[in-house]
Amino acid sequence: CIFAPMNVEDISTVRSLLSKAQNIVVVPHKNPDGDAIGSCLGLYHFLKQKGLQVQVVAPNDYPRFLKWMPGNDTILNFEKENSQAVEALQKADLIFTLDFNHFSRTGQMENILKVSKADFIMIDHHQEPSGYARVTYSDVSMSSTCEMVYNFIEKIDHTAAITKDMATCLYTGIMTDTGSFKFSSTTSRTHRVVADLIDKGADNMLIHQKVFDTNSASRLHLLGVALKNMVILEEFHTAYTTLSQNELDAHDYKKGDTEGFVNYGLTIEGIKFAVIFIENREEEIIKISFRSVGSFSVNEFARTHFGGGGHTNAAGGKSELSMDETVSRFMALLPKYKKQLAV
Ligand code: 5GP
Ligand code: MN
Repeated sequence: CIFAPMNVEDISTVRSLLSKAQNIVVVPHKNPDGDAIGSCLGLYHFLKQKGLQVQVVAPNDYPRFLKWMPGNDTILNFEKENSQAVEALQKADLIFTLDFNHFSRTGQMENILKVSKADFIMIDHHQEPSGYARVTYSDVSMSSTCEMVYNFIEKIDHTAAITKDMATCLYTGIMTDTGSFKFSSTTSRTHRVVADLIDKGADNMLIHQKVFDTNSASRLHLLGVALKNMVILEEFHTAYTTLSQNELDAHDYKKGDTEGFVNYGLTIEGIKFAVIFIENREEEIIKISFRSVGSFSVNEFARTHFGGGGHTNAAGGKSELSMDETVSRFMALLPKYKKQLAV
């Protein structure tokens, strides 16, 4: 397998895998975001158009603001529709894993993927891919998995094959993963790709509205709580905030409601490192999101201290301690990083 952009050999392997595949399954990571769902559905429409049998299976549920994308109703939820999902996975002879690179990122689905006899194709932009795939299209410089699916279609077929439905899904994931085209991973090539997606029918204004302008009042009030709880640690150029389960419950919390909250810390002048700790009583964990600007690697921080990972400037992890203990642990780590956070 190749830990790099696809080469000629990969492309011919993909073509031969596609030509003999009877049942294809496409899988995003657990708690899928816009890029995960967008890339899976973009690829789904492409493979379907080629006359292939395809099923997207998501490890669990995802936010309502992603549930409007074309093809959404065909997605199986591994938690809610378990027997159908298991059957699809067991029948699969080819499995695409999109926007992640370790089976452990699929939660309970991991047990099935681990013993699967199917060939795997990975398309992903996270660091340190594991080696389970026949073809590993892994590129950490990419803005999004959706941009990679665009490249994949270009290599396997031709971008002329991209329909309005594909364009809509891929545009959505590029938009969400780049923070609406502002993160440092956004290149001129990214803009050329989204321009082409607009030409192919992606309604950019409508997509933005559907994702970002469908807030509930309670979500905005919850954002207010997160902003109020924010603690600024000037010495470490760090801002962190917390949301307890009680605070979530008091605001009619729905999956996805806290998406993007962590970024507000970075909008404070001089802040390089922003963190949000969110209590999840059901899973008995504190889920943590890390963001940075510049060279401080939150991927490494999350990997080393909180069993997680991600990208240099956006990563996640978790803690099994209480909220107070987790925050104390986090605070105790900062002095070690003071120099890195100063630049
Ligand atoms: P978020 O903070 O938005 O949940 O995730 C930010 C980035 O970190 C995403 O690319 C996501 O895939 C990755 N990420 C989030 N949580 C985890 C985790 O627990 N483990 C790993 N390896 N990556 C994570
Ligand atoms: Mn992504």
